[in-house]
Amino acid sequence: MPEFIPMISEDEIKEKTREVGAKITEDYNGLDLVLVGVLKGSFIFLADLTRQIKIDHDIDLVGASSYDGTATTGQIVFTKQPDLELEGRDVLLVEDIVDTGLTLSKIVEFVQLLNPRSVKICTLIDKRERREVELSVDYSCFTLEKGFIVGYGLDYNERYRNLPAIYDLKL
Ligand code: 5GP
Repeated sequence: MPEFIPMISEDEIKEKTREVGAKITEDYNGLDLVLVGVLKGSFIFLADLTRQIKIDHDIDLVGASSYDGTATTGQIVFTKQPDLELEGRDVLLVEDIVDTGLTLSKIVEFVQLLNPRSVKICTLIDKRERREVELSVDYSCFTLEKGFIVGYGLDYNERYRNLPAIYDLKL
């Protein structure tokens, strides 16, 4: 039986999302903000974050998966490209968790080709132990040294995304 060890509570997530949303509201005041959520894991965080940002902004989604099923190759294919015109706009990529950083660095490279005015990164969890590329994470709610977590959008083989809080999964 898998064991779920509580890591981050619903209240802690709510509080941090409110803080980060307030910071984004301040930093992007007067800019042309587009939140671009990275599928699928960010969908719950994106839904909560957008409601904590009190300036007008647009929302889009991008989907990417590693080319041969392993994240370590750095080869990714896009399963969903942004629909909106991003040229000249201020893109904030919204991710569930940054681990090696390989996926997100490829997404940043791709978005740069669309000539936005700026590209920044906001992640719910910044997990640093296995980072392989230099990536500047501009906003993060929580940092985690190691472990494999599920809940609040994060899955294990597509399960457990619906858990309202975040748990360390022990198989
Ligand atoms: P990276 O390219 O940074 O190694 O991959 C990041 C992706 O790996 C995340 O978007 C997520 O899908 C997955 N991932 C990395 N660490 C975890 C984790 O602790 N739990 C879950 N559920 N997914 C993770």
